[in-house]
Amino acid sequence: MKLHIVKYGDPVLQRAGDEITNIDGELVGFIDNMFETMYEAHGVGLAAPQVALSKKLFVMDVSSGKEKKERITCINPQIVETKGKVISEEGCLSFPGIYFEVERPEVITVSALDLHGREFTFEASGLAARCVLHENDHINGKVFIEYLSPLKRELVGKKIRKRIKAGDWDTEWD
Ligand SMILES: [Zn+2]
Repeated sequence: MKLHIVKYGDPVLQRAGDEITNIDGELVGFIDNMFETMYEAHGVGLAAPQVALSKKLFVMDVSSGKEKKERITCINPQIVETKGKVISEEGCLSFPGIYFEVERPEVITVSALDLHGREFTFEASGLAARCVLHENDHINGKVFIEYLSPLKRELVGKKIRKRIKAGDWDTEWD
């Protein structure tokens, strides 16, 4: 089942998600829906707060469904190590049509629980590292425009307000 992706302006995106304490069938079904929603929206990552579930959970697939091993679910993730810095363009399913460059660590080590509640650790670089860091921000209530300078952030804000007025951004601005 496809879920509704909330857009910037919805307070759920600025609230830190709760730790997940119970991985049951309902959650596993919800995660399946998150993957379906992410693939349909042509995204490479989707965090639970983006589909209005305020929990520490995200899914990702930098191969867009082409490679099974890239289909990753991270529950209660922790970034345990970061190395280097790299600037690259980034987008977000909660900010459709808005892209800009963000500086982030280049190589990271992540530890999380899988669907069976087992802890796993992996290293990621390139797009996968960027994706993990972006989604990990979401579950901590942070969105990518927070990396912009105040001036650039204001410009993005203006663009969004225009789109809300035009009926092209289905959320309220507070
Ligand atoms: Zn995002």
